[in-house]
Amino acid sequence: MSKESLEFQTEVSQLLNLMIHSLYSNRDIFLRELISNSSDACDKLRVESLADDSLFEKDSTMKILVEYDEKARTIKVIDNGVGMSKDEIIANLGTIAKSGTKEFFGKLSGDAARDSALIGQFGVGFYSCFIVAEKVIVKTRRAGLPPSDGVCWESNGVGGFSIESLTKKSRGTEITLFLRSESAASKNGEESAHDDLLSHWKLQEIIAKYSDHIAIPIMMKKRTWDEKKSIYVEQDELEQVNKASAIWTRAKQQITEEQYEDFFKTFSGGNEKSFAYSHNKVEGRTEYTQLLFIPGKAPFDLYDRQQRHGLKLYIKRVFIMDDAEQLLPNYLRFVGGVVDSNDLPLNVSREILQESRDVKAIREGCAKRILALLAEISKNDPEKYLSFWNEFGQCLKEGFGEDFTNKDRLLSLVRFRSTFGKNNELTSLQDYVARMKSGQEKIFLITGETIASVLSSPHLEIFNQKGIEVLLLVDRVDEWVLNFVTEFEGKHFQSITKGSIDLDKVDSEDENETAEKKRLTDKQLEPLLVKAKVVLGDKVKDVKISKRLTDSACCLISDENDVSGHLERLLKSAGQKAPERKPILELNSKHPLVEALVARADDETSKIVGSDGKKVEQEISTVFSDLVLLLFDQALLSEGGQPDNPTLFVKRLNGFLLDGLSKR
Ligand code: ADP
Repeated sequence: MSKESLEFQTEVSQLLNLMIHSLYSNRDIFLRELISNSSDACDKLRVESLADDSLFEKDSTMKILVEYDEKARTIKVIDNGVGMSKDEIIANLGTIAKSGTKEFFGKLSGDAARDSALIGQFGVGFYSCFIVAEKVIVKTRRAGLPPSDGVCWESNGVGGFSIESLTKKSRGTEITLFLRSESAASKNGEESAHDDLLSHWKLQEIIAKYSDHIAIPIMMKKRTWDEKKSIYVEQDELEQVNKASAIWTRAKQQITEEQYEDFFKTFSGGNEKSFAYSHNKVEGRTEYTQLLFIPGKAPFDLYDRQQRHGLKLYIKRVFIMDDAEQLLPNYLRFVGGVVDSNDLPLNVSREILQESRDVKAIREGCAKRILALLAEISKNDPEKYLSFWNEFGQCLKEGFGEDFTNKDRLLSLVRFRSTFGKNNELTSLQDYVARMKSGQEKIFLITGETIASVLSSPHLEIFNQKGIEVLLLVDRVDEWVLNFVTEFEGKHFQSITKGSIDLDKVDSEDENETAEKKRLTDKQLEPLLVKAKVVLGDKVKDVKISKRLTDSACCLISDENDVSGHLERLLKSAGQKAPERKPILELNSKHPLVEALVARADDETSKIVGSDGKKVEQEISTVFSDLVLLLFDQALLSEGGQPDNPTLFVKRLNGFLLDGLSKR
């Protein structure tokens, strides 16, 4: 193969450019990333060799070698892992951007400080070597391929890369970084070139910080002190510079918080601390160790169904697979970490994992741990818990549809906005229940698009007047959640836009209640209800007098077992068929418009069918029917819906407006 030049994919180029210019203050991560790739490559070879041990090519001891050359200004990371074929290297290093790259660019703000924090979170991988290097050469050969099938990849990190054939005796990958020169570094706005990296001491320090736990030995040339020259001299002999003891196998007491956090960084790819972690040895029928981390920030691809999430699975300390999603329920997919099992067979596949009883026990165990950890934080540090909730609350809510055994645990972790706080802050259900009025038996809630829209809903009027708290469910998944939960601590959830509401037994804060205007009697209201129903025909299931309105003239509600108007609109906007819902129109008998309607309903006569089924002589005037239709459309608008025929609505409204104007 002669030398070929290829271009980076646009996103890769953008990423490189951003990285070179914004990450040099955090440059040490390049070594962590390269070592982590090497360690993954060794793990991969180990897994592949289970099926074909000739891949080891007679050398089954894995290692990673780190070298530097002060004069040539190079750093090398060499591994004898699985290596890459020509096609693999083209795809992996340049032409295919990592998944999530597009979303990542979508989140950039243009503000350098914010964006560099984002890139840290994104996980930069191999390309991070261009933070310090002006040229990188990768020599690699896939395990099992002949030496003549080696490939050499070279790039200066701008625009593209070249590849050509190479004869490589040993399998695996050798990466050489040519550090940027002093002048190139200053052109790049950096204070100095990264000469300090060209020292045994510095490289070893970085390895100890970021890669100590890597289970593969990381080797460097041994140094001895030359008494005569008073300098260290490098020997050909190698020494191991990492502990290589998997952190989760050590006793908790021997691990510092910093070590846990450093470990978290190695697989989160970022530089941020975790939100919380939990490390346990589980004994019993299934034995395993779990080291689980909840990140502080949601990854870009949390809601990307294509994206794999999950824990790293080890079996008796041997790495088996990444992203073992079977070890956690899907709604906890933001959790990262390791499970090391003592019972599973080494040759497990994803399919076996799906069916294994041990895996089921591990999954349940991990879910319980995470939920217990969250419960503890929510109790001891509610503020901190809210920061978790804001990042992952929506994801956690998916648990209601997925994990029935933990329903109660999830209910105590869920947070909703409410009418209680000044700014409608989030509240727990426990706190809601503690604040319930005497005589209040239900947890009242309203669902809708936004806080502003639900707060202006007429359905809230009586609750506001009586000082009864209502939960404001404005998350898209909330309607769906309500399919799975009906009560909390024995108190049923009740949507205030559905069914009848009886607040008579609830203690009221409303002092004016006794001075209330005299209500019209049922008999007085009957003709209005009958006639309004005739006017509205198929549009409604019923017309009733409302107990929930104080200011507005009317509102729509759903029958107890029907879907709410909000859910109906959600389903329609998602292109799904919504179950047929006919709303009930509720009228406020104390509202002047309704009073006017009552007076008219009484006057008019025409032939219609009354509620008792008998024909009644009554007549319906256009003014009456227009007003009823207007009220219906108004109610529809105020719950976020649309009149069936907006032109007619406007026409009717204008008719009344003109009438009103002519009297002024
Ligand atoms: P990530 O490691 O997150 O997938 P990287 O950009 O670091 O992203 O690497 C891209 C891919 O290149 C890796 O997934 C792996 O397939 C391949 N790769 C990188 N380094 C090595 C290596 N030392 N040996 C074998 N393959 C490697």
